[in-house]
Amino acid sequence: MKVIIATKNEGKAKEFRQLLAPFGYEPVSLTEAGINAEIVEDGETFEENAHIKAKAVHNLTGLPVIADDSGLEVEFLGGAPGIYSARYAGENATDEQRNQKLLEEMQGADTPLRGARFVCAIYFIGAAGKEYCVTGTLEGFIGFEPMGEGGFGYDPIFMMDEDTSLAMMESEEKNRISHRARAMQKLAEELQKNEKESI
Ligand code: IMP
Repeated sequence: MKVIIATKNEGKAKEFRQLLAPFGYEPVSLTEAGINAEIVEDGETFEENAHIKAKAVHNLTGLPVIADDSGLEVEFLGGAPGIYSARYAGENATDEQRNQKLLEEMQGADTPLRGARFVCAIYFIGAAGKEYCVTGTLEGFIGFEPMGEGGFGYDPIFMMDEDTSLAMMESEEKNRISHRARAMQKLAEELQKNEKESI
């Protein structure tokens, strides 16, 4: 049975393929499925946006789908940038510009006020039409300047401890503890539980 991997991000697509392989699904990319429609993600939560994406692709193809939505929530900013993480500094801004804007917004916030977490919601619609929604988080805090060369997005300013940003960790290590990895572990557990029926 085919499953559409509803992301244009190759790194995420690879992780999803690995997750679903043991369950006998054959992964198909959006391009392979001939889908290039722009899906408007106008939900108010990560879960809603993942649901909107999965449903839209499912309605177009009738096939099983996996989709996700993720971002960064900062306590001092009341949960911003949240679902707007990708567009935080405007549509065409770079990761560096988003990080710079966030650091500016955090001026005057001492370490105890800099708590933050990454959130990832995954929505999966299986072959029998059953829907699964799981969420994973990674807790940390916002640093005072970008550190490290690895990772992507907000990784250089997301600190695991005072000396270590996510961008300083080996990618295997990040992929073991990340919000996306945690959501995927939960989905794998849900699928295993349901495997005897039909997923
Ligand atoms: P999306 O889920 O691909 O829409 O990602 C939303 C935004 O959240 C991206 O633009 C990234 O900047 C940010 N983001 C999501 N996951 C991570 C991560 O693991 N590290 C750094 N930034 C992330």
